[in-house]
Amino acid sequence: MLPVEEALAAVLSAAAGHATPRDVPLHDALGLVLAEDVRAPDPLPPFRASMKDGYAVVASDGPGEYPVITESRAGNDALGVVVGPGTVAYVTTGGPIPDGADAIVQVEDTEKVPATADGSKRVRILARATEGQDIRNVGCDIEKDSIVLKSGQHIGPAEIGLLATIGVTTVKVYPRPTIAVFSTGDELVQPATATLCRGQIRDSNRAMLLAAAVQQRCKVVDLGIAEDTEESIKKHMDAALHSNADIILTSGGVSMGDRDFVKPCLSKMGKIHFEKIQMKPGKPLTFAEITTQDSSKPSQTVLAFGLPGNPVSCMVCFNVFVVPAIRLLSSWSNPHLQRVHVRLSHPLRADPHRIEFHRAVIRWVLNDGSGRPGYVAESTGHQASSRLLSMKSANALLEVPSAGQTLAAGTSIQAIVISDIISSPSNELPAALNLLPSHFIPSAKSVSTDVPQVATSQDAVVKVAILTVSDTVSSGAGPDRSGPRAVSVVNSSSEKLGGATVVATAVVPDEVDRIKGILVQWSDIDCVNLILTLGGTGFTPRDVTPEATKSVIEKEAPGLTFVMLQESLKITPFAMLSRATVGIRGSTLIINMPGNPNAVAECMEALLPALKHALKQIKGDKREKHPRHLPHSQAAPVDQWERSFRAASVGKGCSCEP
Ligand code: AMP
Ligand code: MG
Repeated sequence: MLPVEEALAAVLSAAAGHATPRDVPLHDALGLVLAEDVRAPDPLPPFRASMKDGYAVVASDGPGEYPVITESRAGNDALGVVVGPGTVAYVTTGGPIPDGADAIVQVEDTEKVPATADGSKRVRILARATEGQDIRNVGCDIEKDSIVLKSGQHIGPAEIGLLATIGVTTVKVYPRPTIAVFSTGDELVQPATATLCRGQIRDSNRAMLLAAAVQQRCKVVDLGIAEDTEESIKKHMDAALHSNADIILTSGGVSMGDRDFVKPCLSKMGKIHFEKIQMKPGKPLTFAEITTQDSSKPSQTVLAFGLPGNPVSCMVCFNVFVVPAIRLLSSWSNPHLQRVHVRLSHPLRADPHRIEFHRAVIRWVLNDGSGRPGYVAESTGHQASSRLLSMKSANALLEVPSAGQTLAAGTSIQAIVISDIISSPSNELPAALNLLPSHFIPSAKSVSTDVPQVATSQDAVVKVAILTVSDTVSSGAGPDRSGPRAVSVVNSSSEKLGGATVVATAVVPDEVDRIKGILVQWSDIDCVNLILTLGGTGFTPRDVTPEATKSVIEKEAPGLTFVMLQESLKITPFAMLSRATVGIRGSTLIINMPGNPNAVAECMEALLPALKHALKQIKGDKREKHPRHLPHSQAAPVDQWERSFRAASVGKGCSCEP
């Protein structure tokens, strides 16, 4: 079974480079990506224009009564009339400034004066104007020949407005792909079927996938229902290829049944990239590339997704894999789905083996249970993959990492946003979060908002913060599997650590400054006792967690590094490539752990015998579990690691006093 991130990488690599630009009328360009730079042929405004309703004046004239010699309204120029010293012109907002005038005095700073006997208009200017006041000069909004929109930009309503203002009515864009959809299954009948015979069900997937594709602004081709025979499926695949589709979506027929013929058909027609994913729901998802063989046309590569038949699995796979593929085919520079951190409003049980995309409704509330604004998530209920009601109204897929444990209410996890997020009408703390243990209740201490927030606990003896360091997770390209795993490891070892509670989690890219910033905040301001960083300790050019850590710690603790190394070497020789650092800053112990979710658990297990003691010592507590006079040789379990540490002569000055 392929992990989700690897499967997604395979889909994106197949979809890359397929986008072909096309000219479309401006009104069809909304939502598409621009394929060329667009320049302004003229300046905007094309003439000096007034920013106010008022009078165009010669600024040096100053306040006084003046004849109004002309009027220049928007769209109605006073061409040819020159406003000389001692005269003014009436102008409206957007109207051209008559030659000679160099400032505008707004109506509010003038007073009406009765017209003279011959009907000539006059006005009293009350305020002194400065030269250029309230005048938009030629090209002040858009300069002639400047690039207004760059290739690669998304076209939204404002971009449509910009294109219109510079007179562009046809634009070169990357169109959305065309998607052909058919269902497979002898049990399927058309939705319009009034009476179902035994064994029949109505085809829901096709209508759903077509709607989902339309929602992604794709063109769709509906190819109906294929029977569970190789011939019928092949016939439908051929029809899909003839329809000039860029993507083919089938549903059903990819499991282990003796009539599941989609995979054999795809393997005969092209190359299958994967056929089983470590995810729940959606395990049977199959992905292939088919190259068209029509001799009359240039060959074309089509992406084919064999989506699972169960409607929820089908829809989850569409969101997780097909949507990013559509985005890449539409030339989006970042095809990944939007992720947000949410707090669970109730406990969730995690699958032991597969990441679960749990359907949920997320909403923004002023107090997410931590005393701060944030998203809270509520499950849509029973999560059977056949139960489409669990997908109904869902606006997010919670990425529940495979840990096999129950995530407590209030746990912060990642969610993929799949549709609009609604705000809580009441902005009140969800009922379930009101019941959270006291450590989720906010501290009075304020923390800056551009760094992760810490929910302090009056009760927590040992405050733990977990920092995932990963470009991939931070950019949204993959889920954070290590962070949640570390949280559950800490939670399950809480007692052995002397009452440890995870008070903060955060994700940062592999950048020294970002890592340092959070380490310093958590150590100095939030007074966290233990910080676990996850990842970024290897040899790749981006691995900088140890450098960031070294730059903030005041004392090194090589013994702990040694024990983690020793433990990890039992699993893989690559462990010797770890450059992890452990050290103390103030009263905070900072431990670099590997990024691998399993390694986090292993390292923690190895450190446990001494961590509680270490954290007590850092706090300045001299009392120890083992009496001082006890020789090292009897002081189990601390002695065991310490002896091997000494034998290996790694580091110096171990601070673990006997
Ligand atoms: P399959 O993957 O073909 O074994 O189908 C798995 C389950 O999904 C079976 O219960 C099918 O009846 C159901 N299913 C397959 N295709 C559809 C569909 N288009 N609409 C609704 N249910 C379907
Ligand atoms: Mg079937």
